[in-house]
Amino acid sequence: MVNEIEFNRYLKNIRYIENQSKSDLVVLEVLNPFIASWIKTKYSEKIADLFEIETNVKPKIEIRIKSKKKQKVKIKEGLIQDIKLTKSTILNPAYTFNSFIVGHSNQFAYTVAKSVCEQPGKLYNPLFIYGGVGLGKTHLLQSIGNIFASQEKVVIYVTIEQFLNDFTDHLRNKTPDRFREKYRNCDLLVIDDIQFISGKEKIQEEFFHTFNELYQSKKQIVLAADKEPRNIAGLEDRLKSRFVWGQVADIQPPELETKIAIIKKKCELDFINLSNDVIEYIATNMDENIREIEGTIIKLNAFSKMIGQQITLEFTKEVLKEQIKEKKENITIDQIIEVVSKELNVKPSEIKSKSRSQSIVNARRIVIYLARNLTPNSMPIIANYFGMKDHTAVSHAMKKINEIINNDANFKVIISQLSNKINTNE
Ligand code: ADP
Ligand code: MG
Repeated sequence: MVNEIEFNRYLKNIRYIENQSKSDLVVLEVLNPFIASWIKTKYSEKIADLFEIETNVKPKIEIRIKSKKKQKVKIKEGLIQDIKLTKSTILNPAYTFNSFIVGHSNQFAYTVAKSVCEQPGKLYNPLFIYGGVGLGKTHLLQSIGNIFASQEKVVIYVTIEQFLNDFTDHLRNKTPDRFREKYRNCDLLVIDDIQFISGKEKIQEEFFHTFNELYQSKKQIVLAADKEPRNIAGLEDRLKSRFVWGQVADIQPPELETKIAIIKKKCELDFINLSNDVIEYIATNMDENIREIEGTIIKLNAFSKMIGQQITLEFTKEVLKEQIKEKKENITIDQIIEVVSKELNVKPSEIKSKSRSQSIVNARRIVIYLARNLTPNSMPIIANYFGMKDHTAVSHAMKKINEIINNDANFKVIISQLSNKINTNE
């Protein structure tokens, strides 16, 4: 762990002499002999590790004293930063809070993620973000990482698989201490897709100790998974309980307005010109996975360039016809209620009522879920239909149904059968 004084005094002015270094030799230049010996004893091992990660070869480290005459040397800018960011950090600079579109579905996760940057290690520790695939978890995690990195803090961002592989490598090389030193001495540890820790006892044990050490020294921990801690099967209870010590925040599928805003942002960043009717068509008809939506936009753009044709609505429909099952514009909430009530044996009037009986609540939630997915109605419109105060009740219903879908394969089948029935107007 490098503290700020040490960093400023000894590490800040190291220069990497690129033209004299080879794959197995790294030549560094420092200002005076004192610093040279200090770095040699305290840091050469770590620096060698950093290079090994990039090149797969662990180099020798040679430290030279800067001669007064020879001032001009090529500098590899990244080095100092690499030392500070540690070797496994690969942050995508495009993933920032600025490029993240905020809507009802992700507002809470976004807000707590920002708070973590303002009061690291104090307010929400750990921060646990969960949600379905392609909904922006990694984007938020890396936004936090980028803020910490810009403040020259030591950031480690890894998926749980990378953490596991790193651990295995160090065990094989008989250097578990170095592994521990690395992960227990950062300012921010971000572990993505932590659900894959499930059932892996050894790594759970290792992570448990890493967690405790960081937590006790008030270092920030941020985790993401596709489900909330209590629903991760094969996760030790002591980890489950720790994961909820700080703040758990979910990301829900984006509502239509947010999807549209995200598509617009994406087009702006990638210099892709889409008209509003095309954007609306994609947003309305594609599922909520933003990664897939982004892929679609890129595909559309590539096709239009290839054929030399403008991206009109017709062109879009043609290109995406296999991929997009068009939502019937004429599907109404009433029709959904009709199908659901028949299938679940609940009266339409009950679904529309305020009844809190479990089976009716359940049917109402399914209707809301289907209405969000099969019709272009926004959350406020659906809330209004059911006489609810505001969109939060709709959002809650969506969340509940998404949860059951994620955890119960039979329920998922029922929902897709209902969708098909409604779509085909049987
Ligand atoms: P996850 O980790 O939840 O599977 P990602 O963070 O990888 O999802 O997001 C998938 C893609 O969608 C990324 O390119 C990301 O930038 C984009 N994305 C997701 N949500 C948003 C958002 N709210 N604003 C802007 N881009 C988003
Ligand atoms: Mg991800």
